[in-house]
Amino acid sequence: MIGCGPIKTLVDPGDFPERNEEFFANFDAYLAHHTDVKINRILVTHGHFDHFGGVYDTIKLLEERNRVTQDLKVFKYLTDNEYEQQVFERYPQLRQHVHTIGDRQVFEVEDGLSIEAILTPGHLDDHMSFLIREKKTLVTGDIILGAPSTSI
Ligand SMILES: [Zn+2]
Repeated sequence: MIGCGPIKTLVDPGDFPERNEEFFANFDAYLAHHTDVKINRILVTHGHFDHFGGVYDTIKLLEERNRVTQDLKVFKYLTDNEYEQQVFERYPQLRQHVHTIGDRQVFEVEDGLSIEAILTPGHLDDHMSFLIREKKTLVTGDIILGAPSTSI
């Protein structure tokens, strides 16, 4: 999550729920303890299921807990690759929430932070990294991995 105030941006909520039970349990517990937090944006680094597969169920959880803003949007660089297609086949209703990202597109976070999307294909054709400018922090998705190697 990115943001120091109550309105936060969430990045890569993870895998399909059947492979991501621990995340959903932990995220639900986090929400129970941070009652002022709401999510207004989900950014996705790339289409692999362990990054994009959990978006729909995360939105459902946030809606059930009344923890989304009215204008919640999901942003991903859309390329129609096979992973993206499979996620949209499983969750056709998700398609309407997902907006494509342009290289160098900037998102303003409520508390003065800005996030710049940087196209970083290689690991996958749709891969974006996100630079939190004021913190000089780069969210690299799977472009930088401990193991195995990436394909840049
Ligand atoms: Zn990946």
